[in-house]
Parts: sequence; C-alpha cells; structure tokens
Amino acid sequence: MLKAVVFNLGCKVNQYECDVLVSELENRGYHTSQELEYADLYVINTCAVTNEAERKSRQIISRIKKFNPNAKIIITGCASQKNKEFYLNKEVLYVSGVGGKQRIFEEIDKQLAEGKFDLPLSYEEPLAFPKPERTRSYVKIQDGCNNFCSYCIIPYLRGRSRSRKIDSCVKEIETLSKKTKEIVITGVNLAQYGVDNNESLAKLIDRLSNIDVRIRLGSFYVEGITDELLIALKGLKKFCPHFHLSLQHGDESVLKSMNRRYGPAEYKEKVDLIRKYFPLAAITTDIIVGFPTESEEAFENTLKFVEEVRFSDVHIFPFSPRPGTKAYSLPVISANVIKERKERLRIVKEKLNKEYLILMLNSYQDVIFETYVDGYSVGYSQYYVRIYTKTNKNNAVVKPTSLYKDGIIGEIKDDE
Ligand code: SF4
Repeated sequence: MLKAVVFNLGCKVNQYECDVLVSELENRGYHTSQELEYADLYVINTCAVTNEAERKSRQIISRIKKFNPNAKIIITGCASQKNKEFYLNKEVLYVSGVGGKQRIFEEIDKQLAEGKFDLPLSYEEPLAFPKPERTRSYVKIQDGCNNFCSYCIIPYLRGRSRSRKIDSCVKEIETLSKKTKEIVITGVNLAQYGVDNNESLAKLIDRLSNIDVRIRLGSFYVEGITDELLIALKGLKKFCPHFHLSLQHGDESVLKSMNRRYGPAEYKEKVDLIRKYFPLAAITTDIIVGFPTESEEAFENTLKFVEEVRFSDVHIFPFSPRPGTKAYSLPVISANVIKERKERLRIVKEKLNKEYLILMLNSYQDVIFETYVDGYSVGYSQYYVRIYTKTNKNNAVVKPTSLYKDGIIGEIKDDE
C-alpha cells in the first residue's frame, strides 16, 4: 500500500476539502496520515487567510523537504491559488489552486504510471543468481511490507510488498539444490508472498516437493500460517520444522499500539496449528522490550505469554525509536527499566531453551556440520538445535546423549 501524508491549514472549508482529499486518496489505496513521517506522497492544503497562515503554508514545505529531501509534494488550496508561481518554483510535484482538485489525482496517477515514485512497485527479478554456499544458501522471494508496524521504518524504505514469480523462485531453488545442503527461503515479510500477484507460499512450496535438500523458512508473520501452507510443508522431502514467528510483545494493548494485527490469542492459535502438524517444531521469536506503551503489567503479560507458548529461543531487542515512524514521538521508558526487563526476559528465555533441548534428547537430529569446537564437529539440526559430535562426516543423523554448552552432544546413529 502506498502512503500519503496530508497537511491541512486554515478554515472549516479547507478542512472539509481536506477530508475529501483524504477519502479520495484512501479510495485509491493510499494509507493516509496527518503527521510528518516518510511517505510516497505529501499533499499540503494551504491557507491564505492571514500572512501568518501563508507563512505556515510555506514553512510546512521546508519542514517536509528537510525531513525527506526526496519528498514528492503536491500543493493545493488558497495560498497556492494566490501565489502559484512561488509554489511552482519550490520544486514540488504539482501545484493546483482551489479548483480542479480532481486534477490532483489525475496527476498522481500520471506520475505513478511514469514511475516517478522512487520505490519499486513490482518485484525486481534478480539479474543473476548469487553464488551458492556449500552449507546453507538463501533465496529471496519477496520484498517490502504492507504492515506499517508503528515502530518500523521498513515499509517506508523498501516499499510495499512485492512477490517474485513462482517460476523464477523454483528455478533458483532447483539450481541451488544441486550445490548446497540447505536452502533458507527469505523475504522481508514472507507471509505477504503472493498477495500482489495472486500466488501463495503454499503454491510455491508445492512446486518444491521433489527437491532433495533441506528447506527452511526465514522469519515469518503469524498471518501467513494456514493449514494450506502447513500441508504443503509436510509434503517437502526435507523440511526443517523451525518457525521463527515474530511476536514482538505478549500484551494485547501493546500489540495494538505497535499496530501488529493480532493479539496473543490469535498468535497462540497459530502456534497450536503448527504443533498439530509438527509436534516437535522449534518455535522461535523476537520480542521488543521497553516499547513506550509497555507498563510493568504489560511486560509481565509478555513474560507469562512467552512461557505459555514455550518458545525454544527468544531474540530480545530493546526498543529503539526510529525517526519517521509513529512510535518515534512517544515518550520513552528509562534505560534502567528496559535493562532490568531485558534481564528478566533473558532468564525465562534460557529456562525455555533448556527445556526444549531436554525435549530434543529423545529424538534423532539430522545435522549438517559447519565447524569444529572443542574437538567436536558442530552443526545445526533440522530443529535448529546446535549439535556437537565426534565425526568426520559433513552431515549425519545423530542420537543425542546429553546437554552441552548451547546445545547437545550426540553420537552418530548406528546404521549411519
Ligand atoms: S516489523 Fe515487519 S511486519 Fe511490521 S512493518 Fe516492519 S517489516 Fe513489516
């Protein structure tokens, strides 16, 4: 979705006209806002009722240009009617007076058609495939994001979600499968794969059912977890049952202020669905600690929820305000409080990580070895568990024996 910021100055008539502008933009698929943030388009409805109003109209252009030097700006309203030449000299995209507002949209459509907006509107196919890594290679199938989480700058920098054609993905994965041992399918927001080109990740995965290398999914947003996808993943020869599902917070109201599109209950339902198909799946996640709306109670809800889900690993990030995002202007939580909460969450994470490793002691681990530590060959299993074994093999099935450091020590399975 494209984003437009609309600024209005002046009287009630201007306000009414501005409301019409906003509805028109939204009808055309724009996400609109009235705060200074990164956007594809800025519309200023100017006012000339006083010198002060005119000064403010000019000032807004300078503020936008300072904030986003590449801003595409459209000027409309009384001040631009009064002094069109002045605004035309401001290197803006288009200047309209008080009349002919419809022309603004014609102009926007024209600029879009001519590709004058910087961010790509469709997936840019790679000119060549990257050189494969012997152990693990990555294949990017999607770029951009439509979600606009309130703390995240990605949709402004990378644009809206765009999906690579299925044939192109399959071709690269097939080629790589002859040269690498594991392929990680990645994207900025994999869950949005296919939204723009009427495809779906499940359809892509179905096309990979004959591929004979391990396939792992990159970071995932819960909206993409469906029966259809999980059934397709079950059909892969060597799927790694490891799901990195970004949670970010375990409290309903904080998730709302983060503009995440789920609550803890919906998230847990998706986790349960994954475990229905892959009972031992590793479920890992990211959590932001110290988001501005995080009260002590909200943080405790996160701790409880993390325990309830039984994540096998949690990546903990302190909140970091990014200019241009909605959350940037919110009052921040003190660094000491954030530090103390991070530590409490770290203790829970380590406990859960250990519980998962103990669970893994009862199941064979299919390992691709990548390095040597303490005289052991070390690699990751299909569950993304770090395995230490005495072997010269590059990959093997390992029978776990005990916990060791950040993983498990094991022996090569007898019949290997
Ligand atoms: S956090 Fe992820 S889902 Fe949210 S806007 Fe950023 S890239 Fe999109």
